[in-house]
Amino acid sequence: MAKTVTLADGTKLPALGMGTWNMGDTLGARMTQELESLRYGVDAGITLIDTAEMYGDGRSEALVGEAIYREREKVFLVSKVLPNHASGPGVAEACRNSLRRLGTEYMDLYLLHWRGSVPLVETVEAFRKLKQQGLIKHWGVSNFDVEDIEELERCINPGECAVNQILYSLEHRGVEYDLLDANRFRNIVTMAYSPIGQGGALLQNPSLKAVAQRHITATGPATPAQIALAWVLRQRNVLAIPKAGSVQHLKENIAAQDITLTEQDLSDLDHAFAPPHKKIALEMI
Ligand code: NDP
Repeated sequence: MAKTVTLADGTKLPALGMGTWNMGDTLGARMTQELESLRYGVDAGITLIDTAEMYGDGRSEALVGEAIYREREKVFLVSKVLPNHASGPGVAEACRNSLRRLGTEYMDLYLLHWRGSVPLVETVEAFRKLKQQGLIKHWGVSNFDVEDIEELERCINPGECAVNQILYSLEHRGVEYDLLDANRFRNIVTMAYSPIGQGGALLQNPSLKAVAQRHITATGPATPAQIALAWVLRQRNVLAIPKAGSVQHLKENIAAQDITLTEQDLSDLDHAFAPPHKKIALEMI
């Protein structure tokens, strides 16, 4: 059975979602593949889609809107407001614009993309208003380190902040030292972005390749990307949002949910990608 995570209010979500950064940027065959991938995902139960007003200046949101308009109610839709729009009026306007591009009347989750100069209390108040108006169902943050979460905690009620979306992968394990637990203690779900290293150097790592060779999945012999994803998904209370621009990649990511890493696998990966032994400031992309 596919893994799930539970928000503070009891809402259950699939632990595997779909990222969409860089989607919608290239017209033609690539965009057709991206639409197919998102629609395939929703039909296969990967119903959480992550986007942001920043991605392609709204092009990602527009693509997501097109992908889901026939089955909006099946989807848990996540978007993000830029820090320079995080004032009271700024959040209200950014949300209206995102909803228009997404072609929907509400977002399921609205995140502050990263911290800027607007006081948190002002952004929180703006999120509360959107919630009262029914324009968003939940709100949360992104790229918040432990100190930011502690500061946020001082101006909200327990359970109000649903999610903290952060960089987490084999290459970026600093959050294991403190932030994953800081989120867990507060019933904040960790949403892991760039879980497969943006398809870059991580996938060439010899140890990761060696672990992949020991596993078979529904899509065939396991790939390094599948192991990298299974490794993130092994964590309790963590939801991963890899971006797959094709149905083929998405099928592989779905199949990665069934991989159980052995003690030997985990130890080999610890050897290649050392866990943190001291505080490391939260990294972001
Ligand atoms: P990912 O780690 O998800 O990597 C995406 C890359 O991996 C793409 O090039 C993709 O190629 C490739 N890929 C996907 N599946 C496979 C597979 N099975 N095998 C081999 N390659 C694969 O990086 P992202 O940076 O896209 O992160 C995921 C999402 O997180 C973003 O799309 C965005 O929604 C969110 N994000 C949030 C940030 C924040 O600040 N809050 C910052 C960065 C990302 P292809 O497209 O060809 O399938």
